[in-house]
Amino acid sequence: MIVDSHYGFTTLYPYRGRFAPSPTGLLHTGSLVAALASWLDAKVHNGKWLIRIEDVDTPRTVKGAAHGILQQLAQCGLHSDEAVLFQSSPIAQARYQAVLDDLIARQWVYPCHCSRKSLANQPRGLHQPHTEPHSPIGCAWRLRVDEPEVAATVGDFVLKRADGCFTYQLAVVVDDAAQGITHIVRGADLADNTARQIYLQRLLGYATPHYHHTPLVLGENGQKLSKQNGAQAIDTRTPLAVFNALNASAQVLGLPVVEKFGEISEISEISELLAYWIDWVQAQNQSGDLPNQPDSPAPERANQ
Ligand code: GLU
Repeated sequence: MIVDSHYGFTTLYPYRGRFAPSPTGLLHTGSLVAALASWLDAKVHNGKWLIRIEDVDTPRTVKGAAHGILQQLAQCGLHSDEAVLFQSSPIAQARYQAVLDDLIARQWVYPCHCSRKSLANQPRGLHQPHTEPHSPIGCAWRLRVDEPEVAATVGDFVLKRADGCFTYQLAVVVDDAAQGITHIVRGADLADNTARQIYLQRLLGYATPHYHHTPLVLGENGQKLSKQNGAQAIDTRTPLAVFNALNASAQVLGLPVVEKFGEISEISEISELLAYWIDWVQAQNQSGDLPNQPDSPAPERANQ
């Protein structure tokens, strides 16, 4: 147990963080920023850091990418403190189905045949609740959103797709709760999912973790670096390449960059570089001068 007075109040909890890459390609600088930030935050709080492979969207999963990501992380010295959870595993899939069945039984979820195209014709593209019953055969399952602000900004959203895949929104909420995640540190591109996730957590009676979103890395064209727009995989083939990749991510996070690998006697190993940043963040914490402040205070912890 540790005491966290980070957020202006004191809470007792065992810190559990995670990094949850989708294996749609190898890690690029943008994803390493989130990995490093979440790992550092966990270590600074003497917490656990878990890796979860978010391969719930099986058609988008790239063969070999999960293995490649785990290898890149290991080469960066970032190791999961518990067994890696794969969302495609039978145990995870059974968990999602049980939660979906519960929401169907409680009439929070309804079958929906709407296509993206038909949604585009709805006000602001938001899905409105169905008034007519739909056949559940070959349909998606959509969650009714009755919280006015969430309804007005994101509308009803899908938890299981017509092709049988559970969605990221459902899987991430169920896994964060199942793994007892207390702190989520992830890229700012995911920030607009947070309202949906908190809404779902509340419906399911789950605790809401602390959320913190890291700055995005932009490519030369000013666009967010992503696998979709061809971001290069980070090179982790040699210790020097790993050192450079970690330093580039550290710079985005406002951490001190270490100029030359091996030339400062105390930093000639990746583990020493990581330990240097842990010490640096701890020192900043003590002086109350953190480079990145959390962007959402967590409500009181429930049922964990
Ligand atoms: N799987 C998501 C991604 O790779 C991250 C999900 C999350 O951190 O909530 O973008």
